[in-house]
Amino acid sequence: PKGLEAAHSMRDKFRNACATPVETLRKISQDMLSQMEAGLQSDGESRLRMLLSFVEHLPCGNETGLFYGLDLGGTNFRVLRVQLGGKEKRILKQESKVDSIPSEIMTSTNEELFDYIARVLADFVATEGVDCNLILGQKRELGFTFSFPVSQESLNSGKLVKWTKGFAIAETIGQDVVKELQAAMERCKLDMHVIAMVNDTTGTLAGGRYWNEDVMAGLILGTGSNACYVEQTSEIPKWPPSLPKPEETVINIEWGHFWSPHIPKTEIDDDLDAESVHPGQQVFEKLFSGMYLGDIVRRMILKLAEQACLLGGVTEIPSNMATPFVLRTRDVSIMHEDESENLENVARVMETIFGLKELPLEVRKVIKDVCEITAARGARLVAAGIVGIVRKIGGRKKKICIAIDGSLYEHYTKFRAKLHEALVELLGQEAAAKVVIELSKDGSGLGAALLAASHSKKD
Ligand code: ADP
Repeated sequence: PKGLEAAHSMRDKFRNACATPVETLRKISQDMLSQMEAGLQSDGESRLRMLLSFVEHLPCGNETGLFYGLDLGGTNFRVLRVQLGGKEKRILKQESKVDSIPSEIMTSTNEELFDYIARVLADFVATEGVDCNLILGQKRELGFTFSFPVSQESLNSGKLVKWTKGFAIAETIGQDVVKELQAAMERCKLDMHVIAMVNDTTGTLAGGRYWNEDVMAGLILGTGSNACYVEQTSEIPKWPPSLPKPEETVINIEWGHFWSPHIPKTEIDDDLDAESVHPGQQVFEKLFSGMYLGDIVRRMILKLAEQACLLGGVTEIPSNMATPFVLRTRDVSIMHEDESENLENVARVMETIFGLKELPLEVRKVIKDVCEITAARGARLVAAGIVGIVRKIGGRKKKICIAIDGSLYEHYTKFRAKLHEALVELLGQEAAAKVVIELSKDGSGLGAALLAASHSKKD
């Protein structure tokens, strides 16, 4: 049929526009590297902010004692405690609890928000067993993973730049969130001290590093995407002279905002960006993270339906096909990973979401192709970014481990496979074997507690 021919030709154009041959990836990773270097020179020099984390000691396994972690990155938050037994015994006990911030509190006041969190923490502290050997009179210490934009000048302070992800409390902006949390804990009579505040990538890195000293970078591939890595302070010209200078620290790249002229971008990406809440921001992340990947695919299917009559027999295009974010990245992974002869999962997703029944097999194939093309570009761009970081770390390490957290990496098998494949293409078999990616599930809250331990004031 004519519609199908037109659809095939549009799909092929889309594939070409999204192509990421290895030479292109190489240029992109070079741009990642040079923008990282520029960002280390001074603030405002680069698209990459290269934020200092103020971490002075990464956890190494020798830490001992009882420590708390708090991981706040969205509606759900986690509180946890770990009893650390040192080099041999490591984690003697770990307990955690997940709670969620009621929606009315996300838009209330500083006091209500932080009191809510402090109360959950206090209730959790109350369940400490007798085996939690906190020495009498010692303050409990907490590491805090806070995954919102903050501007930090020390490890235990940071001013909120803006709220994201459904939070909207105007008075918090510009305030030190550690102070707010600390004050709420005092109001709750909770005797606890915030030792460290980090973002989720740094938490993930620290969590991985505790077990494995080769961990040199942390990466988030979930709703959003970001990366951090261990840098030598001698390589950071913008290091404030007034600060003590540890040998190494963690740099938060804020790589979601990366851009290179070599990145293949289509009209669809431009539209998605223009219609997004923050146009022009986080443009790298918008090409592949869990929040957006599904919407790129939706837009392309809609375009195929409008311009190439992909849905042929269906007289009207389903009205919700024009609704942003109705097709989620999880749906894309289901369709992309459909290996059945008749692409039954593709059919099921199209029916569940758009009410489309009995799509011909040829149409299902085109839809699966769109998923494949979009995911492959995304995974390969992530690989190029990783290679930029690996090259920045350079010969400092024989082996470089990258701790990754996020559902996109964890659950989307083909995305993960494409990413690994591209790493081998870029680095070659031998060098790629020295770059190890390990899944560090929910490691960021634990990482924060471990950072509290490695920066503890107790001894
Ligand atoms: P967050 O990043 O918000 O802390 P996650 O790491 O769980 O949380 O990431 C959530 C994102 O992962 C969502 O955008 C979701 O679409 C995506 N996601 C969840 N499951 C899958 C899956 N099976 N395949 C691809 N993406 C998935």
